[in-house]
Amino acid sequence: MRSSGEASPHLRWLPLALLLFGLASTIGAAYTLAEISRGRAALRFATSVEQTRAAIEGRITAQISLLGGLAGLFATGAQVDRESFHRYVERLNIRENYPGVQGLGFSMRVAPAERAALLERTRAMGMEEFRIWPEGPRDEYHTILFLEPLDTRNKAAVGYDMFTEPTRREAMERACDTGQPALSGKVTLVQEIDAQKQAGFLIYMPIYRGGMIPPDVAERRAQLIGFAYSPFRADDLFRGIFREEDVSRVSFAIYDGPLPTPQALLHQSFDLGGALYTPAHSASETIMVAGRPWTITYHSQPIFDAASDTYVAPTIMILGVIGSVIIYLLVQAQTSARLQAEQAVKARDTFLSVASHELKTPLTALSGNAQLLKRRIAGSDRLTPAEQRNVDAIVEGSRRLRKLVDELLDHTRLQEGRLLLEPQYLDLGDLVAHVATEIRPTLTRHTLAVYRVPEALPIIGDPLRIEQVLLNLIGNGIKYSPSGGLIEVRLEYAEPWAVLEVCDQGIGIPAAALPLLFEQFYRASNAIDMHIAGMGIGLYVVKAIIERHGGTIRVSSTEGQGSTFRVCLPLAEATPPLSAPAHQSDPPVPLPRP
Ligand code: ADP
Repeated sequence: MRSSGEASPHLRWLPLALLLFGLASTIGAAYTLAEISRGRAALRFATSVEQTRAAIEGRITAQISLLGGLAGLFATGAQVDRESFHRYVERLNIRENYPGVQGLGFSMRVAPAERAALLERTRAMGMEEFRIWPEGPRDEYHTILFLEPLDTRNKAAVGYDMFTEPTRREAMERACDTGQPALSGKVTLVQEIDAQKQAGFLIYMPIYRGGMIPPDVAERRAQLIGFAYSPFRADDLFRGIFREEDVSRVSFAIYDGPLPTPQALLHQSFDLGGALYTPAHSASETIMVAGRPWTITYHSQPIFDAASDTYVAPTIMILGVIGSVIIYLLVQAQTSARLQAEQAVKARDTFLSVASHELKTPLTALSGNAQLLKRRIAGSDRLTPAEQRNVDAIVEGSRRLRKLVDELLDHTRLQEGRLLLEPQYLDLGDLVAHVATEIRPTLTRHTLAVYRVPEALPIIGDPLRIEQVLLNLIGNGIKYSPSGGLIEVRLEYAEPWAVLEVCDQGIGIPAAALPLLFEQFYRASNAIDMHIAGMGIGLYVVKAIIERHGGTIRVSSTEGQGSTFRVCLPLAEATPPLSAPAHQSDPPVPLPRP
């Protein structure tokens, strides 16, 4: 039983609540996913940065080892000539194994007094064109004596005094004073003989007389023979370290010194071409390389950023919003349909309530007067038989109208929660017997059989309402058995229930209709097809009355064979003395049950 309009206030807000919930969940999910993918991308970027730095450092370390080996060659004290130097370097196969290294060289320190002897020695080694350059008197000379592989570029450098150039000199002095390998600042190598010049740098490894590193700076300066060194063309070197696909994901740029200024740029892995692209990830760090700072900046490239699953969150967002809106619209449509239906039901109930109340009084007068009229003229010969039948029709019509209006009133009372009971102690068997006695005289084509039990069936109930139940069930049995037949009423004592069954052999009920039978205004299709009059209210009221008594009602039926309605009402506990012992009012009629 649902009174109309009850669910409406909640229903009205349901679509909006669902929409808000959907949007909130979508935002939550998208935010969480965005956080996760941001975290993952940051980790991938950090790993890439780590790998790049490790590769750069690894490459420089390998280069320094190479210079250490070369320094060892001179430190043995043996005379190294051009030929043995060439063979040593040739076996290292640096063009293949160390791409980007311009060469391996030996720069010799020469006192002004030793210059002539050096020239003689170089002539003897077949280096006819050897000279120390630039010319000019100086306290101390340094000259590139050997440089391999001796290609055109390196030939251009032989004889050059790197000590005359401040950037190189700074590194040479640092190497000499510390005894450690020293990286120079950014230079243009003397090997840069074409128009397309690259940035360059050098690494120096000091070589001292006797092969050991002297303990203090003064000794180191005194004992310095020269330097094993390598010139590097920065672009060639770094392009040699990295594969194309790595740098197209995360680009990097290396700067000489602690700041990434354009003048200090040594190498840029990927030409951003002043692109408008704003990388999702950037990093910058300064590392120490052979005693000098290098600054490396890293930027994620479009390929890297596209590979990040950052599109997942926006996708979820879009799908979530679309989904929420669709759900909103669907629920909105359903809700307004439901609200409309509820309003229609409410309007119907109001109409029925008003109509039944308004009809009740004139109908009572009409039917009372019709019956009075019938009694007055009964047996008199003032009316022709045809007129008598007219009066009978008026009486019968008004009786049926009253029954209909009573049903409607009960329906209205139920809807408004006004169906009141006046319970009292009574015996169900006696009540059934009484009702049967009332009905029997009106039957023409049907037989009504009542089977009682020896026990009393005490219940607490409203006798008028229980009678109404009986009249309804027996009345239906008669109405839905149009070709006549037997109506059986069976009583049963089944602790804790007093059971009442009403069986007929009528048209039965289609299986599909059984679950809906007790709904208000429901009528089975066969009843409608056979034009049996009714409103579909009786069983609805019956069920409500029984439930109000704490009982249950069930139906079983086979279409075309008949129906059985089974009512269980709670037996009353204490039994006050009953007027008469239970008895069987009718002989049992041995007919099969439907
Ligand atoms: P009404 O008889 O006025 O239509 P009820 O509420 O009494 O309303 O019954 C609802 C429906 O249940 C009926 O329309 C009919 O289809 C079906 N029904 C009730 N009792 C029987 C019966 N004994 N045999 C077959 N059908 C029945």
